[in-house]
Amino acid sequence: TSERLYCVGCGAELQTEDDTKPGFIQNSTLKKYLENDSEDDSRELLCKRCFRLRNYNEITDVNIEDDEFLKLLDSIAQEDGLIVNVVDIFDYEGSVIPGLQRFVGDKDILVVGNKVDLLPKSVNTNRLLNWLQQKSKENGIKSIDQIMVSAEKGINVDKLMRMIDKYRKGRDVYVVGTTNTGKSTLINRIIAQSSNVKNLITTSRFPGTTLDRIDIPLDDGHNLVDTPGIIHKYQLAHYLNDQDLKIITPKKPLRPSTFQLRDGQTIFVSGIARFDFLDEKSNVVFYVSQGLLLHRTKTVNATEYYEKHVGKDLTPPTDVDDFPVLKKHEFTAHRRSDIVVYGLGWVTIPENTKVRVYVPEGVNVSIRDAII
Ligand code: GDP
Repeated sequence: TSERLYCVGCGAELQTEDDTKPGFIQNSTLKKYLENDSEDDSRELLCKRCFRLRNYNEITDVNIEDDEFLKLLDSIAQEDGLIVNVVDIFDYEGSVIPGLQRFVGDKDILVVGNKVDLLPKSVNTNRLLNWLQQKSKENGIKSIDQIMVSAEKGINVDKLMRMIDKYRKGRDVYVVGTTNTGKSTLINRIIAQSSNVKNLITTSRFPGTTLDRIDIPLDDGHNLVDTPGIIHKYQLAHYLNDQDLKIITPKKPLRPSTFQLRDGQTIFVSGIARFDFLDEKSNVVFYVSQGLLLHRTKTVNATEYYEKHVGKDLTPPTDVDDFPVLKKHEFTAHRRSDIVVYGLGWVTIPENTKVRVYVPEGVNVSIRDAII
């Protein structure tokens, strides 16, 4: 039929094409529903995401593009509530949503830095919280508070829940974030840790009233709202296959790798990034996934070396044909700084040093005050 069908859980228009987008339902499920003529009016048609939530108490993430996301933020802006913005502290620059405050209006935003388990044990948490506050400010976010958590390891989730309760002041809570920040993992933790939530999930909503948001009832009649993740196009993830992605994503706390370098030396981070150091002598520290190779070579030979070994000794990437060429950027650190390659990690360089960085075209790289 050409009839439009909507999920009774989240209101998304049902579709059978893309399981990473809102409203996905398996063709076979939909067929079964349509063939099975509707004598029973109470039958409910749910998208896969709502089905899983209802039956397994589990959030799965779906993704949307910028313009849809803006519509969603706009609908949130119309309502009263607390925004919980989840960012990935390993990839802050790649996961912050520029203009968030502008789009949601004058709302309180609680900034949650997820994946704190990835930082080296030596990290000073207070300093990081200050850093997160500072970064929020730079991105126009007037954060009401900030907290570091690990959704996966359950670090600080209790504290976060108390914080949310304090700041929501009896209102709804909207959880927003870019894809891959761990938003779903975090919400699933919250569901698992809230004793009252579970049985309430069976309440259904009216179709078409929401923009792909999922409401998780809280104990006072208000909701914790999961929203789809916004896709950031410049994330390194778009240029790598699943296997490579596993390698660049750290699973254990980052172990600092220190190099004492002279000028004319280059470090390759596998085949993904290249750093040329332009000072007479410097101590640099790499913070990247342990599965990645850090290879030192002479700068004069570096280009030739890369061409010869990328996809072979220098992997990831494994699919060299689809991988963008490396593009040159140059940075001068006036203070002790991190050069951050979005999604890959960072290298800390001393003050008054210069570095030339090559990253795949389309991937962002920036400089910040050292966080460690
Ligand atoms: P979403 O797209 O924002 O919903 O993110 P997911 O919840 O699907 O998580 C994205 C990836 O980050 C997955 O590979 C998770 O295993 C991982 N992840 C989520 N939370 C954490 C965390 O606290 N620590 C670490 N190290 N990884 C996490």
